[in-house]
Amino acid sequence: MRSLESQEFDNKRVLIRVDFNVHMKEGKVVDDFRIRAALPTIKHCLDQGASIVLMSHLGRPGGVPSDHLSLVPVGEALCDHLEMSIKFSNDCVSDDAIDVSQDLQAGEVHLLENLRFHIGETKNDLDFASRLAQHGTCFINDAFGTAHRAHASNVGVTDFLHNGTPGFLMEKEYKFLHSAMIRPKQPFTIVLGGVKIGTKLPLVTRFIREADNVIIGGGLAFMFLKVAGNKIGKSLYDKSLYQKAKQTIEMLNSLDCEFQLPSDVVVTKDISSGQDSTVRKVSEIYDNEIGVDIGPETIDQFCETINRSSTVIWNGPMGIFETAAYSGGTRAVAEAMANIIGKGGLSIVGGGDSASAVRDLNLWNKMTHISTGGGASLELLAGKELPAMKALEMV
Ligand code: ADP
Ligand code: MG
Repeated sequence: MRSLESQEFDNKRVLIRVDFNVHMKEGKVVDDFRIRAALPTIKHCLDQGASIVLMSHLGRPGGVPSDHLSLVPVGEALCDHLEMSIKFSNDCVSDDAIDVSQDLQAGEVHLLENLRFHIGETKNDLDFASRLAQHGTCFINDAFGTAHRAHASNVGVTDFLHNGTPGFLMEKEYKFLHSAMIRPKQPFTIVLGGVKIGTKLPLVTRFIREADNVIIGGGLAFMFLKVAGNKIGKSLYDKSLYQKAKQTIEMLNSLDCEFQLPSDVVVTKDISSGQDSTVRKVSEIYDNEIGVDIGPETIDQFCETINRSSTVIWNGPMGIFETAAYSGGTRAVAEAMANIIGKGGLSIVGGGDSASAVRDLNLWNKMTHISTGGGASLELLAGKELPAMKALEMV
């Protein structure tokens, strides 16, 4: 695999695909963690004497320019982080934008406007990709969040700029979500939660033979509790995935893998109040109740398993953690994960909401790896070949 460390960037013009798809509010960046995550690659190239052109998408403008999805505020935040001024072009493939790139001096940075203002980006249009390629003399991809999609800026562009290199972030994601998972150190535990059951079950299937424990909490747990014969009241449930969940339980029961569902949960009749919650055994949920978190007995059981694990992958919060009263399970699991590093264990967190929970809890530096990708991390963990990684010849 090509690596940044082994390349010379002196006087090169490096086109870097970054993931600046950040949260914005009223024209300001409210969460700059993706910008910070791209800094090591950007700074490395600058230190090595390169000039840099940065390209990213933001949101889903659907191929048309839109003021509120402009990357201008991202450019402002980036200037603060780099402590320098940068150039900005308001169209990523205009002649003017390409001229600005071609006139860059070593040490200068040029940010292009949102790639998805052009429909050619998500269609992986080759004419569009060839225009993008004119910005650089070499290509780096550090946008892991879109690596599971074949777009012009991460796949098409490599037809024109050969020998693309993964950025530091991309390399790190590959190391922990792929290489470290080929033979995970056992005991190996998978903790799943959140809501997107369809995207998470492939992970169970992928690791079913390696995993010693599969723990399921969050909204996902209610699906499984229902399949196991419990009444779940008005808790999260997706009828179309009933069969899939049933097969998963049967598969887990037939193997030498310990499968853990909550034994007690926190329920409420009214989510919006954030109050009046009660702990119930899973066999005693009333018809008008909604499960919002795992209960104290379950917390003890899940954390005990995490504590005796050497590798833990966690994807999906244990409850509606955005509401303080329902965040206890997520906090406890995150703290247990943070403890295993001290014992030489590997703690890996995937999923946008799980990552933001870890950040809110100030445990960011206590995990082995927190993935910056949502769908991409799940697909890579599930053993899929990601198109953007293939285009870089990483796989
Ligand atoms: P991630 O982004 O980490 O992959 P998901 O997107 O699958 O996680 O799920 C995150 C969401 O799941 C959160 O917004 C959280 O409020 C919600 N959630 C967790 N537990 C429940 C539950 N019991 N009922 C409804 N929603 C839940
Ligand atoms: Mg999510």
